[in-house]
Amino acid sequence: MMDSDNAANEALIQFLYRAPIGLVQITMDGAIEMLNPMSSSLLMPLAPDGNMDNLFAVLDPVAPELRQMTTMFAEPAGVICESFRIDLGDSLDAGAGHPRPQFLAISLLKLDAGKLMAVLADVTAEAQRERDTIARRLNSAARIDALTQMPNRRAVQEQIGLMMNGQGGPHSDYAVLFLNFDRFKQINDSLGNAAGDQVLVAMAARMRAVLRPSGDGVRATSGGGQMAARIGGDEFVVVLDGVRRAGDVESVAGRLLDNISKPYVIDGHEIICNVSIGIVLGSEALGDADSVLRDASIAMALAKSGARGYVVFEHSMRERAVRRGDIEGDLRRALHENHLFVLYQPVVGLLADGRIDCSTGVEALVRWRHPVRGVVPPLEFIEVAEECGLIGAVGDFVLERACSDFVAWRAVLGEAAPRLLAVNLSRAQLAHPGFTARVAQILQATAMDPRQLQLEVTESLAAQDNQVQSRLHELKALGIKLELDDFGTGYSSLASLHLLPVDTVKIDRSFVSQSDTSAHHRVLIEATVKVARSLGMDTVAEGIETAAQARVVNELQVDKGQGYLFSRPLESPALIGWIASSSALALVA
Ligand code: C2E
Ligand code: MG
Ligand code: MG
Repeated sequence: MMDSDNAANEALIQFLYRAPIGLVQITMDGAIEMLNPMSSSLLMPLAPDGNMDNLFAVLDPVAPELRQMTTMFAEPAGVICESFRIDLGDSLDAGAGHPRPQFLAISLLKLDAGKLMAVLADVTAEAQRERDTIARRLNSAARIDALTQMPNRRAVQEQIGLMMNGQGGPHSDYAVLFLNFDRFKQINDSLGNAAGDQVLVAMAARMRAVLRPSGDGVRATSGGGQMAARIGGDEFVVVLDGVRRAGDVESVAGRLLDNISKPYVIDGHEIICNVSIGIVLGSEALGDADSVLRDASIAMALAKSGARGYVVFEHSMRERAVRRGDIEGDLRRALHENHLFVLYQPVVGLLADGRIDCSTGVEALVRWRHPVRGVVPPLEFIEVAEECGLIGAVGDFVLERACSDFVAWRAVLGEAAPRLLAVNLSRAQLAHPGFTARVAQILQATAMDPRQLQLEVTESLAAQDNQVQSRLHELKALGIKLELDDFGTGYSSLASLHLLPVDTVKIDRSFVSQSDTSAHHRVLIEATVKVARSLGMDTVAEGIETAAQARVVNELQVDKGQGYLFSRPLESPALIGWIASSSALALVA
């Protein structure tokens, strides 16, 4: 009996001795009465001098609260703390040979008024696991766009990177589509950011719907299949994997365009938001994920400016974009260093008796004196200026310069001074909400009479949207005249002329230049004059180069003419000379 009791006790002692957790018996003030080997190995790093007389003293540097918890524990017996985690952090000196614990968990049990039992465990692995989980969660949050719950730029970069250099070597059967919304900022500006956000969420939903697996020949692969991501304000990216034919990508692009461009109804407002897409095919991808995204955005910008839905990237586009970048930098400098200047081309009155009126008006045409390239014509930089946001500064410069020159001519030429100043506007200027106020300011600063200012807009621009329309009406309310430039080249027609708040229609050079040789063009000019007259608008024929053309447009009763026949665009002093010397020039008969 005795033997078996002994054997049982011995077994229990062995069990406690070898337990993979630390067991320590202490007094109420921490003095260690018993401890198993696991305890000493867990505690040893905390007691480099080997002094393990008192548990609280050993743990004081890392868990001073234990002592207090014990004193505060009033019950006769019970759990003082359970799995209290202690971060040993850097408090331990290295060199123990084996991996030292980073985290300990301690439970304290009050056995009776004088005895405590401490249970110690190494929870380093568990803590590490928890830490990893948190890191993973944070990481995935760092890859998700909070608004749309789509992957974000970082996730897309990784995905593209995987496809460029994925397992099994780089492959090229993928495509990256860069989507951007045309004039999205207007939604935020007019309806508020909350409405803008709703539109973005709705767009994201439509993109997801389009990308649902279907028979496009684009297969979902383990490499990620189709990913739609939001990488910035109104910029989205779609990555298609497993693309067999370029045509498949274009059909996805077409479906994206169709679906996303349908109207959205937000807070009772119907919102139409067109999208432009730039596509980089895997076979054309160069560099890293960022350069692929950049190339896709270059193609997207071309889609946008060309009013095409999508454009597939080609390498020549990158060179063009670089050239544009150069122009942008140079243009910024030009504005600073006053390298822009304005020429004036006379607009003459075409009188019934065949004579011309040289004081009718002028059109201001901007030029750039480039230190290396010489004089650069506007067609080479206006578009860049629009794209990079410099158009506001360029436009302000031209308007201010032209108005002050115009006012100065009166002092020199008196009654012979031009009566009307035409200044070209571009799309981006009109889209700017502060534009009208800016014009009013310039008029005031230069003492320019608004009735003598005529702003030229192109057909496509004037027909564009309600916001542009209301901006045009604001300008008219200032007393300024409006002129439709390049008429005949845009998409509005004679039938919709009455919808535009313009005073003058300028017939495009392409009609005028054929007026003396093509009956068809003559008929078009004639019809334009008739419709314009019926609406109370007058007409200008631009690009008159020959006497024959001048005669034809005069016969067709066009009111005014402009072109090399009369004069090329001139600098201000030369214009003064031209007017002074040719005040009543007869038409070449
Ligand atoms: P536009 O407004 O249609 O201007 C007429 C263009 O035709 C001018 O070219 C003018 O020099 C040219 N031209 C005039 N008469 C003749 C002619 O008899 N034959 C030929 N072949 N050409 C003639 P320019 O100055 O190079 O301007 C080109 C375009 O650049 C302008 O077309 C206008 O759309 C834009 N532009 C010019 N200045 C400005 C500006 O200050 N702001 C903005 N936004 N655009 C401007
Ligand atoms: Mg013009
Ligand atoms: Mg024109």
